[in-house]
Amino acid sequence: MTEHRPGAAAPADVLIVGAGVVGTAIARTLARYELTCTVIEAGNDVGTGTTKANTAILHTGFDAVPGSLESRLVRRGAELLRGYAQQAGIPLERTGALLVAWTAEQAAQLGEIEAKARQNGYHAASPVPAAELYAREPHLGPGALGALSIPDESIICPWTPPLAYATEAARAGVRFELGTRVLGISAADGGHEVRTSKGTRYCRWLVNAAGLESDSVDAMTGGASFTIRPRRGELIVFDKLARPLVNSILLPVPTPQTKGVLVAPTVYGNVLLGPTAQDVASKTDTATTEAGLGSLLDAGRRIMPDLVAEEVTATYAGLRAATEHRDYQIRVDPARRYACAGGIRSTGLTASLAIAEYLTSQLADAGLDLRDRPDLPPPPVMPYIGQAGLRPYQDAARIAADGAYGEIVCHCERVTRGEIRDALGSDLPPADLDGLRRRTRALNGRCQGFFCAAAVAELAGFRANGAGAAGRPA
Ligand SMILES: Cc1cc2nc3c(=O)[nH]c(=O)nc-3n(C[C@H](O)[C@H](O)[C@H](O)COP(=O)(O)OP(=O)(O)OC[C@H]3O[C@@H](n4cnc5c(N)ncnc54)[C@H](O)[C@@H]3O)c2cc1C
Repeated sequence: MTEHRPGAAAPADVLIVGAGVVGTAIARTLARYELTCTVIEAGNDVGTGTTKANTAILHTGFDAVPGSLESRLVRRGAELLRGYAQQAGIPLERTGALLVAWTAEQAAQLGEIEAKARQNGYHAASPVPAAELYAREPHLGPGALGALSIPDESIICPWTPPLAYATEAARAGVRFELGTRVLGISAADGGHEVRTSKGTRYCRWLVNAAGLESDSVDAMTGGASFTIRPRRGELIVFDKLARPLVNSILLPVPTPQTKGVLVAPTVYGNVLLGPTAQDVASKTDTATTEAGLGSLLDAGRRIMPDLVAEEVTATYAGLRAATEHRDYQIRVDPARRYACAGGIRSTGLTASLAIAEYLTSQLADAGLDLRDRPDLPPPPVMPYIGQAGLRPYQDAARIAADGAYGEIVCHCERVTRGEIRDALGSDLPPADLDGLRRRTRALNGRCQGFFCAAAVAELAGFRANGAGAAGRPA
């Protein structure tokens, strides 16, 4: 057991570094057991890393590398997250995907991809002839030769899952230290001494879920088995007027280098075009570029010319935590009481709950004592921020009971004063306008806050440039 230094906080049984979708999923799973657990996150909120900027698809894993851990965990994770989304109110739509062949060579590959899907345990893929493809997607550009249908690929809200996991974990007693960076780790009396930007913490077991920094946190513990090679993906978000153009996720035939550029609806009622795939030197280089966005528009003109003619609402970029290896870097070292969930590159949102399940069973095998908690709180029901279901401004009964749900503050996204008030009073309140956006959709619409940012910021007690201000209204 780690020695308890006089004056220091008691050592946590488990300390998790990183509160992205992976770290929060692990925290939620460990919260079921009689353990003290702390999450240390450098950002001022949960889900501020790669988790906030992805393509938001709940994958089936049909195209994973057969036999890989990623294949197994994506399949299991999709099943778990589909069930959890229903319980927790996470927006999810089963749109299905069409993997489109544009050349004879690509058309010839569809059979192999279908066979690979079966190897990955996915048996519902089926060929779609060109005439049926155009009947299903009338706005598809000319020249498509056929497609493979993957009916279970789905679109999901990427922001609510980490918030739901963290809320559930916090209610079960997990401690979140946000705005706290881990700077160094040393072995201490059978556990770890963790030096952070806000002082030293002690723990018996350490879990590395640091995303793009998972290699540096691994190195702090003496590991050196992988290096993160950030791969940037730029995306374009089209206006809601484009939504009727697209019925399902339109995938390209992948190459060995990339899954390629897709067109996908979002659960907020927009359409995404992207992502690019470019290796970059910096782990913080989330800038969009003229070349990247230009290449997306070129691809978009081929896939769906009518889409490219629509208004663009926003552009963004995320960094995949790719490594020199082709699989996730998940392992537990019993001797060091250390677990690593790193290198979770392009499927971590889908696989998050399965990664947590797998890592927890590995921790148990390694000696972490897991005794069920008898007093587990129920999973939270999160505020619904999707476009397909009933939003508060549409809910007459809710407005009659509380007039704040009838007062729209963000007109593009129809966000009400009641929702902003609820977010500010939630278990994990936002620290700035970006956090409020991920909880409510405020400022996420076609004006990108041009009209409502000042009013929303005043209501929330934040400065309009996004920084948190002291003293939020109740
Ligand atoms: C362009 C793109 C598209 C994608 N599309 C999809 C998709 O459609 N479906 C899907 O399932 N997945 C997708 N992904 C992948 C998915 O987004 C990631 O796998 C997932 O978000 C990784 O989560 P994470 O928790 O490992 O990392 P992160 O979200 O990056 O979290 C790691 C956290 O660790 C913190 N941290 C780092 N170092 C320290 C430190 N020293 N001290 C304290 N905290 C620290 C960071 O601040 C960060 O918040 C996509 C990714 C990209 C980039």
